[in-house]
Amino acid sequence: MSCPICNRKSDPAIRPFCSARCADVDLARWLSGTYAMPSTDPDDVEAALDATEQALASQPRPDRLS
Ligand SMILES: [Zn+2]
Repeated sequence: MSCPICNRKSDPAIRPFCSARCADVDLARWLSGTYAMPSTDPDDVEAALDATEQALASQPRPDRLS
């Protein structure tokens, strides 16, 4: 099985994703509703990663509340 975000090999510890970063992208897509228009275009993936990092950086996360 390959990562649904970037199509790289999945990490068994976090499958179906290859990394926590892609898992975050997946979560952000669900949260933002962009799953309505899936794309595997590399440019779109990079844009999604950038948008995710910005979104995560602007939101409080449980691991930053201490
Ligand atoms: Zn991935």
